[in-house]
Amino acid sequence: MYQGLVRLTAVRFAALALLLAAWPLASASAADPGRNNELLDKLVSSYPDFLASHDENSLVWKDGTVMTFDDGKGAKDFDTLLDHPDLEDQFYTPYPAGRAGIPPGVDIDPGRVRYEPFFAKMYGDCKKGEVTKKMVDVVWLPKHGGKKLKITSVNGVDRKLKAVSDELDKLPDSFVKYLTPLGGTYNCRVIAGTTRPSVHGNGAAIDINVAWSDYWRNARPVDGKYPYKNRIPWEIVEIFEKHGFIWGGKWYHYDTMHFEYRPELLP
Ligand SMILES: [Zn+2]
Repeated sequence: MYQGLVRLTAVRFAALALLLAAWPLASASAADPGRNNELLDKLVSSYPDFLASHDENSLVWKDGTVMTFDDGKGAKDFDTLLDHPDLEDQFYTPYPAGRAGIPPGVDIDPGRVRYEPFFAKMYGDCKKGEVTKKMVDVVWLPKHGGKKLKITSVNGVDRKLKAVSDELDKLPDSFVKYLTPLGGTYNCRVIAGTTRPSVHGNGAAIDINVAWSDYWRNARPVDGKYPYKNRIPWEIVEIFEKHGFIWGGKWYHYDTMHFEYRPELLP
């Protein structure tokens, strides 16, 4: 559960209002078995190749593994959410699908909180060489140069990304500059400035052209707050979302070239 009040001393009034707006939603979750049930249903339906069912507070995998949904540790500050999340914390704030959600409020990073054992179990551990074995080629924008990229075949992500590529390929030529050359897909590394593994190590994420990207770490904070910046057009975001990929441009800690396969967060 998200406890936004911890950072009160560090933020100004406008930011406080945003935190308070987000807080009731998250704090309601622990006491709301109906909401947990909905989220667990959504997880099971989003990853049908791996997940079989759930009960009130756990996810049952097809191989019999049982994973706890809510660890019962109660309120977590933002850094703890990122470093020690449970499955429930992945939903600490809703992902706003479509042309919505920007600029995000302070510490509103829908999809950036990831319970790593869940993803490692599906996609493999990149440090053990388990991820690359499951990666296949997809031709990116066949009508515009068509370079091959590698992406995981787990969860049909390769097919989903091919569908994204086919739709992006039909956009007017003015969009191509955002999409190629690609920033990349697979990279077994930790997230810059942290010890947390990057989702790029799962082989289920893609960075479009770095030249048009904006990243919160490159921004200078103003009054302790990162000013939002984005140059990626909605048309591109909408196509990715349609096929199960969320966009890093909807995070307060924005990373606007970044898309990752997270169908559980989309309608
Ligand atoms: Zn990325």
